[in-house]
Amino acid sequence: LVRLAGVNKHFGDLHVLQDIDLSVARGEVVVVIGPSGSGKSTLCRAINRLETIDDGVIELDGHRLPEEGKALAQLRADVGMVFQSFNLFAHKTILENVTLGPIKVRGMKSSEAKELAMGLLERVGVESQAHKMPAQLSGGQQQRVAIARALAMQPKVMLFDEPTSALDPEMINEVLDVMVGLAKDGMTMIVVTHEMGFARKAADRVVFMADGQIVEEAEPEVFFTNPRSERAQEFLSKIL
Ligand code: ATP
Ligand code: MG
Repeated sequence: LVRLAGVNKHFGDLHVLQDIDLSVARGEVVVVIGPSGSGKSTLCRAINRLETIDDGVIELDGHRLPEEGKALAQLRADVGMVFQSFNLFAHKTILENVTLGPIKVRGMKSSEAKELAMGLLERVGVESQAHKMPAQLSGGQQQRVAIARALAMQPKVMLFDEPTSALDPEMINEVLDVMVGLAKDGMTMIVVTHEMGFARKAADRVVFMADGQIVEEAEPEVFFTNPRSERAQEFLSKIL
């Protein structure tokens, strides 16, 4: 469903993505881990075309990423993204945050979008907060709304970039539980996270990045118990 081949990206002299080849099948859950600065966020942003790439190919569902215009808006709708910081629209209610995309981008009727949104808010467990403003919700609740908002676009793939790293510890699991549920429901997911419990429970594959390269890929059990590369061994010894 998602295919990157020979992807390279520089920021000035810094070679942040080096010959990245990565394919993610429909329904697959891939966890990306690696040290700070290894290029994980840049990889996610490239898949959503929030970043351009210098060379290589990125395809979604067999089509190369569009450059601009309507096709680009369509791509962004097909690729749901949840960031570390809960970037909800601060001056809109929770419900409006979720209905806005379907109405504006998908051309859905307001009544239909509301019904869809309420269903999704229920799925992530915050339906009772629908008429509040984002600032009235806890971090964990806001992040669950962010997931519902992305899902409202009926994306083909969901990207998560450290979705729990800005949360207080007691809220981490409520967000991870929603993500595990999504994975079980067959959503295609690329998840940057250092939450090994999530990787073990939900990932089909772990991709380890360092210095802009994919150093190692393996099933979670294999990767965590028996990492092959020295870089991965060193990294795991620090975080486990
Ligand atoms: P972290 O775990 O800290 O989130 P990361 O693996 O997500 O790290 P990236 O954010 O992808 O890493 O950054 C990769 C490298 O590119 C870093 O050295 C970063 O400083 C650099 N970088 C990222 N964005 C830009 C930018 N817009 N301009 C210049 N350099 C950038
Ligand atoms: Mg990052």
